[in-house]
Amino acid sequence: MKKWLSIILMCMVWITSSIFASATNQEEGLVIAFNGEQTEYYSVFCDDTHYVPMRKVFEKMGASVFYRSRDGQIMALSRDGDIIRHIVGENHIVFNGEQKTVEMPSFSKDYETYIPIEMVSETLYPDDISYNEQHLNIQKYMFNSDYHKVIQDVLDLCSLSNFYPERFQRYIDFHAKMPVYSVQEAIARVNLGLDYPFYENVATIEHPDELLVLVNKYHQLPEGYAAYNLVNMSREYTVNDGKQYLLLAGAYEHYVQMAEAAEKEGLSMRVVSAYRTEDYQRFLYNNKLRTNGKIYADNYSARPGFSEHQTGLAVDINSTRVAFEYSAEFKWLQEHAHEYGYIMRYPKGKEWITGYAYEPWHYRFVGIEAAKIIYEEGITYEEFYAKYVSVNEFR
Ligand SMILES: [Zn+2]
Repeated sequence: MKKWLSIILMCMVWITSSIFASATNQEEGLVIAFNGEQTEYYSVFCDDTHYVPMRKVFEKMGASVFYRSRDGQIMALSRDGDIIRHIVGENHIVFNGEQKTVEMPSFSKDYETYIPIEMVSETLYPDDISYNEQHLNIQKYMFNSDYHKVIQDVLDLCSLSNFYPERFQRYIDFHAKMPVYSVQEAIARVNLGLDYPFYENVATIEHPDELLVLVNKYHQLPEGYAAYNLVNMSREYTVNDGKQYLLLAGAYEHYVQMAEAAEKEGLSMRVVSAYRTEDYQRFLYNNKLRTNGKIYADNYSARPGFSEHQTGLAVDINSTRVAFEYSAEFKWLQEHAHEYGYIMRYPKGKEWITGYAYEPWHYRFVGIEAAKIIYEEGITYEEFYAKYVSVNEFR
């Protein structure tokens, strides 16, 4: 029984090694040194090629190396902002998106990936590898420590599940530009596309019917999208102009409770805008565009397909004037809206995140659970979304 087991094991070892080691006559190569300083690492010499342990070598050069199980890639992120990617058993290495092919593939030995030394010279330091009888010397690049502090901070988080190496440079740029946010926050924001100008890099929303749908200047409702399950608001909760006001059933139910509670305090809350169709939003936006120009229109009005009002989850209450913020109704909403699952969607000072000027009148239904978190943490819906909803999967 034991004999069989060991034979099977030997076969497995043989199979594995023949997959990864393209040549059989491996021998210990040279001591690896950096700037003439010896390390305890050796190259493996095989078929006239020196192979070096990828992780150890790149880490010695100041890069952060990690294995991404999602696609089996080993990644080295250098302190210079370079991204090096490799899959064990392949004979190419990708340097900042450019594929470099060498003669021999890498192999795996003692849980370490050994890459041909050409992969090192093809990527970072072409002329900086030299040999003598005992040493394989790699000339290490020297970094400017000030600039690289930012990069190092970003690198420290490279193994987070929402860290996308292809966005590495954007994380660095954003963190350098907005140091007030932690690296973790910078990563979450870049993953939401908040480092791009508004209306650039727009994604079409996949599930527009979800309660927690994010509609903003980077996330567009599918063309021709129309909400369903809308209900007609009772006249007692809307402005009395003869028009019909529609909301999604769940949002309406909570709105009624909120309005009733406010009324008990002697306040009056009347909806002046609720559900809008794409066509109506187009009409509104074009109107603003014609009378006030593009900058103003984009500040105060959403382009068609980009308005929360098209989801049936948003309401404008009492007026659409900033003066609304001085009303007793506004004060009450500030304190209680979240108890009914509503949030003020475009707060003061957060224009650069939301993409809209301060709108004290615009409220969005997100459900009580989400509204409570947003209220307690004092964050925008974008920030909430980045932190709790889209941590992993966003673009
Ligand atoms: Zn509104």
